Amino acid sequence: MTRILVVEDERKIARFLELELKHEGYEVDTAGDGRTGLDKALEWNPDLIVLDLMLPELSGIEVCRRLRHESDVPIIMLTAKDDVSDKVMGLDMGADDYMTKPFAIEELLARIRVALRKPREKAATPAEEESHALHAGKLCLDPDSYAVTYNGEPVTLTKKEFDLLHYLMENHGKAVTRDELLNNVWGYEYAGDTNVVDVYIRYLRHKLDDRFGIHTIQTIRGVGYLFSL
Ligand code: CA
Repeated sequence: MTRILVVEDERKIARFLELELKHEGYEVDTAGDGRTGLDKALEWNPDLIVLDLMLPELSGIEVCRRLRHESDVPIIMLTAKDDVSDKVMGLDMGADDYMTKPFAIEELLARIRVALRKPREKAATPAEEESHALHAGKLCLDPDSYAVTYNGEPVTLTKKEFDLLHYLMENHGKAVTRDELLNNVWGYEYAGDTNVVDVYIRYLRHKLDDRFGIHTIQTIRGVGYLFSL
């Protein structure tokens, strides 16, 4: 079972995260201050740590710094809004990602899945480095051969659908705007006409979600789309 340690002194948030993560099937432990968090991180050996930055006893930055001497466990920081210097410092200290409070739990869950899937640097084999294929659950997209499969079954996509899925999968767990998709997938010729994006998202959902009973692309209201299989 995948273990997640939540280090957060705000009890309500810690409790909420604990419940949500357990609901997703993770084994969860919590710590209410930095020192306990560091001890538990070293003793319990979690697969991922959600680490608040503003903590009593030891700050999240300090926990991160000390932890990195011992372990390369993925760390997702929780930061207060607009606290840019903390974010930068946390990333410099070796955190993998950050979320700004308040955050949508779905986005945190998506980022956790991404962080857990990332091969740790030490574990990367030459074969993995050579393949450009992107994987998300049973979905595999190989830009070298323009092939998409789900659970080994081929999925036929048009070039545009393929490029769109490729871009979304590259930005796995990250909300992307329609404009960003237009610029990167269609180029500037369609600038302004974001309807085309919605149409192609529907095509992809039809070919993937409807066919395999999965949920690949979320609509983020007022923003755009997020791939989070
Ligand atoms: Ca805090």
